Amino acid sequence: MAKPSFSTPLGMVDILPDETPTWRALEQIIHEEAAKFNFQEIRTPILEPTELIKRGVGQLTDIVTKEIFAFKKGDTHYVLRPELTAPVVRSFVQHHLDQRGGVQKLYYIGPMFRAERPQKGRQRQFHQFGLEVVGSADPVADIETIAFMMRIYERIGIENFTLKLNSVGDPESRERYKNVLKEFLEPHRAQLSELSQQRLDKNPMRILDSKEPEDQEFITKAPIIQDYLNEESSLHFEQVKNGLNTLGISYILDPYLVRGMDYYTRTAFELSSPDLGSQDALAGGGRYDLLVEEIGGKPTPAVGFAAGMERLLIACEELNISLTDPTKLDVYVVSLGNAARQWALGCLPTLRAHGLSASMDYSGRSMKAQMKEANRELARFTLIVGEQELQDEQFVLRDMEQSTEIKKDLSALLRIIYQSFK
Ligand code: AMP
Repeated sequence: MAKPSFSTPLGMVDILPDETPTWRALEQIIHEEAAKFNFQEIRTPILEPTELIKRGVGQLTDIVTKEIFAFKKGDTHYVLRPELTAPVVRSFVQHHLDQRGGVQKLYYIGPMFRAERPQKGRQRQFHQFGLEVVGSADPVADIETIAFMMRIYERIGIENFTLKLNSVGDPESRERYKNVLKEFLEPHRAQLSELSQQRLDKNPMRILDSKEPEDQEFITKAPIIQDYLNEESSLHFEQVKNGLNTLGISYILDPYLVRGMDYYTRTAFELSSPDLGSQDALAGGGRYDLLVEEIGGKPTPAVGFAAGMERLLIACEELNISLTDPTKLDVYVVSLGNAARQWALGCLPTLRAHGLSASMDYSGRSMKAQMKEANRELARFTLIVGEQELQDEQFVLRDMEQSTEIKKDLSALLRIIYQSFK
């Protein structure tokens, strides 16, 4: 019978032991910076009701029409979450988080799922970190959201990027603009891509997002939304730009930036990196003042962003940025013979109780093999015990950096070890 052979599902990867330290370092940076901004973490389930994602992300978006992993259990339809804005807003509404008072400044880190065609920087299970500021219409919320996003890349040392900024207006401005855009595109309907033809009836602004070659000519000639913003949206946009200027965050204005989700209002932004190849979007976000109500809450303004963690790590690789130091083992206890192995085993908790990492051989190997392993694990010290050492109650401590050895009783050696880690 052939041996069974299994591998990860298409577009999904294992994060292997050599990679997890980098992931944890990145997560740590996000937690630390979030704390400095006084944001609080939120964790929601991997599964969400299909209807929430349809409503929250938008019926016509690529995510909903093509990319959700969906299944039914009993009478309930579920999806693997493709993003976290709608779920966070669901949680905000479900738990009446507005009653905690003030503005909810929530951040998250976790896996998302989209059934896209996998390629470098595009997976079917990938990770995002992001932020949702719920309950503030103030431009300061937009500015702080962008500032937090930028801070993460700045701290890591990724500086080669472009921040694109746009305002997609409020409902009144959008309605005006949609009509103008539709009027402009209608005479060219037959020349537009099939998808854009559908969008022309349902959501003409999404046509600006199209990558289809046949649409480009019309997109570049189309009227731009800035000319149709009402006074309030225009003022809001000015204040966001001024705030970014004050913080020294540079951006370029992109009137065609509409973003993939339907829920955006006013501010929209995207961060891209030339170091990433074809999947060059690092992060994106914007204001979504209509979403909370759409999901069943009271009208509540909000703004947020989501950033791809795999792409951030690809950029780090391209730029030779390492987020970790090689992990070092503090003490490896080398033992020979059964009694010495028992002694070594008993020694580990003592070392660990002092906050040190400590390990020993798990396979009954020779002394030489154990020393080799200690080297591979970059052990700072080896503590060596055999029959003779047990009898004499004198053990050998080898300083692996200095290549020196001393023989003393255990408490003397422990003092030396603890001293050197102070
Ligand atoms: P979005 O939620 O589509 O605005 O995506 C936000 C960020 O998540 C993007 O800028 C990417 O960095 C990342 N991202 C989105 N889709 C994927 C994917 N399929 N694989 C890896 N990263 C992704």
